[in-house]
Amino acid sequence: MLEQEIREYALDIGFDDIGYTTAEPFPQLTEALDERRNGYSWVSEGLLQIASVADPRYVLPSAKSIVVLVYDYYKQAYPAQLEGCIGKAYQSRLYPGKKRLFGSRLRLIREFLQEKGMEVGVRPAMPERQAAVRAGVGEFGCNTFVYSPGRGSYIAIASLAVSGELEPQNKIAASACSDNCNKCIEACPTGALYAPFKMDPLRCIAFNTYAPGNFPGTPDDIPVDIREKMGTWIYGCDLCQDACPHNSKRLKQKLVPDAFLEEMAPKLAPQKLLNMSDLYYHSIVQPILYGYMWEKKFLQRNSAIALGNTGDPDTVELLATALEDPQEMVRAYAAWALGRIGGKKGKALLEKALAREEPGKTSEEMKAALTQA
Ligand code: SF4
Ligand code: SF4
Repeated sequence: MLEQEIREYALDIGFDDIGYTTAEPFPQLTEALDERRNGYSWVSEGLLQIASVADPRYVLPSAKSIVVLVYDYYKQAYPAQLEGCIGKAYQSRLYPGKKRLFGSRLRLIREFLQEKGMEVGVRPAMPERQAAVRAGVGEFGCNTFVYSPGRGSYIAIASLAVSGELEPQNKIAASACSDNCNKCIEACPTGALYAPFKMDPLRCIAFNTYAPGNFPGTPDDIPVDIREKMGTWIYGCDLCQDACPHNSKRLKQKLVPDAFLEEMAPKLAPQKLLNMSDLYYHSIVQPILYGYMWEKKFLQRNSAIALGNTGDPDTVELLATALEDPQEMVRAYAAWALGRIGGKKGKALLEKALAREEPGKTSEEMKAALTQA
């Protein structure tokens, strides 16, 4: 049976689960985007074209089915040093590139499906979570993540629209949550999770680490009240997943440390990233931090926020250097961080920086920081 053959192949090359569903549209996605247009305009009309891909035939006009692959990315221990700093998904090396492991899995499964006579569409994106639920390989949690039964939510989902007719599983999955659980909503520091199954990306820490100023259509800046609640997260945020009872077993398991990440961890501390050179960014940081940040200034910005939130006066010298960075964004957020840390030295540095700054957004940040310092 073809479905079983595909399944065996997918498991053999390292995926952890696979399901099939039809290529019918996802009207609930269109409804959700319509209802919450304010928060999602950047994604519905932007890079991912989510509004369009609510119909998988936008991705592949001949689509009849969707093959949904699940990959569990919590197989080795993550470094303690990066906890509260970088989300597990962003440490997990889910690189899509053809010469990397995860990208190779995707390429292999695509080629396998093509060898079976199917057309395969992948771009621009698929509604991965909705597809996973409809294919019966996951259930939605109130935190909007999808839970793979027995695994939890630390999973990557890859969906491929295909022209072949595959027997759909189409289980109507219940929610992963019990009636009296509210832990993820309570754990969200910004109120981004404002109701079960509803998340406002504009208030989400993860979104704010990678989207503002970086993705077309997103706000230029991270709002001040969000900066204060970002703590030391510089890329992603795991709080609403880490709080979930469905993940607690995973979090307690004794796993072998990931040797590569252990070696990388000290190199990814905010103190190292704040004033990093282009060479450091391109040779060390960018290759490991799979994902969405294409310019180093965004990680420098996030590092400044993280250092500001530690309130540690020992970071003032680093922030003083950042006040002289050629990027306005870095100077502005270094100023904010110095205002947050306060103290005489920070104030003097801010006054000096303001005196040399041209009038504009950055000088306004410096003035605002001076009122806090
Ligand atoms: S990722 Fe963080 S900020 Fe975003 S919804 Fe979850 S807990 Fe809230
Ligand atoms: S923390 Fe509770 S409410 Fe939130 S996703 Fe997990 S089980 Fe559901």
